[in-house]
Amino acid sequence: MNRFDYIRPASVPEAVAAAAVPGSAYLAAGTNLVDLMKGGAARPERVIDITRLPGLDRIEWLADGGVRIGALVRNSDLAYDERLSRTFPSVAEALLSGASAQLRNAATVGGNLMQRTRCAYFHDLAGACNRRVPGSGCDALEGENRLHAVLGWSEHCIATHPSDFCVPLVALDAVVEVEGPHGGREIALDTLHMLPGSTPEQETALMPGELIVAIRLPAEAAAFSRNARYLKLRERTSYAFAVVSAATALEIEDGVIRAARIALGGVAAKPWRARDAEALLVDRTASPEAFAMAANLALAEARPSGDNAFKIELARRIVVRALSLALEGTPEFMPALPASPFSTITGANHVA
Ligand SMILES: Cc1cc2nc3c(=O)[nH]c(=O)nc-3n(C[C@H](O)[C@H](O)[C@H](O)COP(=O)(O)OP(=O)(O)OC[C@H]3O[C@@H](n4cnc5c(N)ncnc54)[C@H](O)[C@@H]3O)c2cc1C
Ligand code: SF4
Repeated sequence: MNRFDYIRPASVPEAVAAAAVPGSAYLAAGTNLVDLMKGGAARPERVIDITRLPGLDRIEWLADGGVRIGALVRNSDLAYDERLSRTFPSVAEALLSGASAQLRNAATVGGNLMQRTRCAYFHDLAGACNRRVPGSGCDALEGENRLHAVLGWSEHCIATHPSDFCVPLVALDAVVEVEGPHGGREIALDTLHMLPGSTPEQETALMPGELIVAIRLPAEAAAFSRNARYLKLRERTSYAFAVVSAATALEIEDGVIRAARIALGGVAAKPWRARDAEALLVDRTASPEAFAMAANLALAEARPSGDNAFKIELARRIVVRALSLALEGTPEFMPALPASPFSTITGANHVA
């Protein structure tokens, strides 16, 4: 680990001013950043500890029915918030499918959005990696790439974004509130993470020094609460990143789909919203045939980036399955799932 200055600002403006100095990195719970620093893949000269910033650890319900989630809210606290898990159940389901209970208790939602790729060559200093060292090459192209991207990748980088939480957020039109050296602004979550193109080192739309202060889910997203699911396929039942995942949400009237949301995880360097597939479903009768057509359209542009063609078919199937589960309705209880946000125990809202 390199030597670095440790700075603990007392307010958001102080934090932003401190982070505007090149070589700075924000530290939230550190479950990702500290690992990267220990391995040498991240070498900030100044670490700006944001964990004591006031007011960023609140879940605020807005007058119109939307919700504003402070960037320092812990993953567990958000997932186990009863109103959140009832109003935006796929968000709670995604959060609780990630990492382990201990990590979720520590990790913040802002840090989850900003976590870095799990590509092994990004973490291995002996490997060539354009994302870590621009222009150095990409060892994943000819290396271990089973779990790499099938959508939106380039010959410069084929990594995926590892977050579960981001997938239903992007499906539900979440917005990120940011404060920076030039003031505050909002970024649609769908445009926060960047596809690699020829500059994979540019991972997000954040400008240097910009701090995520909150995530907002709009009131309209609550209309999906009765038919929303997050489904994650992984190589073991818990404590593993998604091979592929899908967040789906439906508004249904007399068997006809009035609105649909579909987003995929584990397939690209960003959570992947499938808008054409959503549009195809509108005003159709909810049926396995309609879901299969939507899944085909969602993956129409997918192509393997290596030894991962299987992910394309897997992603199609998970879209169909997640839509079918959403159609069945958001379950009141899901005790069979590890870390379900729902529970059969009166007064408790989890079974993990
Ligand atoms: C073993 C393991 C398994 C995991 N499995 C999963 C999984 O299955 N699914 C999943 O989704 N995640 C998983 N994670 C990732 C975990 O959820 C993230 O590490 C965590 O959410 C990061 O939050 P943090 O507060 O610790 O962020 P930190 O580690 O403190 O920061 C992470 C990054 O975000 C930046 N950052 C933090 N907060 C802000 C902010 N407010 N504004 C701007 N930048 C900011 C930091 O500078 C840093 O670059 C796993 C992690 C581990 C270690
Ligand atoms: S896929 Fe991206 S992160 Fe992985 S080695 Fe290539 S450039 Fe680096």
